[in-house]
Amino acid sequence: MNNPINDPINIAFIGLGTMGAAMAAHLIKAGHQLKVYNRTLEKAQPLEALGAIRAATPAEAAQDAEVVITIVSDSPDVWEVVLGEVGAAKSMKSGSVLIDMSTISPQVTKDIAAKLAEKGVQMLDAPVSGGSEGAQKGTLSIMVGGDKATFESMLPLLELMGKTIIRVGEIGAGQVTKAINQTILAGVYASVAEGMALGLSAGIDMEAALKAVSGGAAASWVLSNRANNMIKGDYPLGFRTRLHLKDLNIALDAAKAMGVPMPVAAFVAQLETGLVKRGYGEEDVSNIARAVRQAAGLDS
Ligand code: NAP
Repeated sequence: MNNPINDPINIAFIGLGTMGAAMAAHLIKAGHQLKVYNRTLEKAQPLEALGAIRAATPAEAAQDAEVVITIVSDSPDVWEVVLGEVGAAKSMKSGSVLIDMSTISPQVTKDIAAKLAEKGVQMLDAPVSGGSEGAQKGTLSIMVGGDKATFESMLPLLELMGKTIIRVGEIGAGQVTKAINQTILAGVYASVAEGMALGLSAGIDMEAALKAVSGGAAASWVLSNRANNMIKGDYPLGFRTRLHLKDLNIALDAAKAMGVPMPVAAFVAQLETGLVKRGYGEEDVSNIARAVRQAAGLDS
């Protein structure tokens, strides 16, 4: 394939949600030729306005593509847009590359890669962290699994969408790394929520308390950016609770398959399951504090 640093290449981009639409725009602005597909077709309009061509199916988008990028919701969705009836694999050529940037199961990732390998198509798993803000600014953290040479040839494209781009191992390793990320976050959100409930119950000045603990060993992104939500009991987006729960379940399934106990992640997944059931799944994941505050008698 051409060198993506110097030459514009044909890219199929599948999934124009919160993340995908912003990421695809960076590739168009860098001069690449994009054919885009989104299940809800009208969502392709802003990208068409930038110069992309709209395709009616993933297979149509992937026709003539040297690289196919997918970023849809969950494991079955990636399977469908890649290997389904009108999936991208139907028209991908030997030597082309699929980069899946969704957050999905490491095992499903390996299964898809094995199917694509039968056609001579290489796959990288490249889930992202950094939220919608990172997608818009092109500053995402991208954790990549897959063949080293393929990673190196795709790096210039990934650099258009992210700032910290690390190959962490073979296919599936990117998704394992993302599962680590979401597992760590689960514990931190829950612990910050408990700390805030303790302080609020004691009636101390929480602004001063936050300032004090932020300068010490308990400092974290969640403490700096989400503790105020938890103090106020107001949880604007952010990152949806139902998506974090999806990611935690991916981590827990992978852990179960390996016999690794993760009691903290399992506990937080139970809290989030209750929040989703009660209709709070679309709120920011800091609403874990809703459950903690209620248990502490701070909210009814
Ligand atoms: P989103 O806004 O809900 O968009 C989801 C996209 O997937 C939409 O384009 C949707 O099409 C498409 N889709 C879902 N199921 C499909 C199917 N079966 N067939 C075809 N298309 C399908 O989600 P997002 O926030 O962009 O997230 C995308 C991925 O990135 C997820 O795996 C998420 O966990 C991950 N992620 C998100 C964030 C974040 O802050 N939002 C951060 C890091 C990683 P429609 O438009 O037709 O619904």
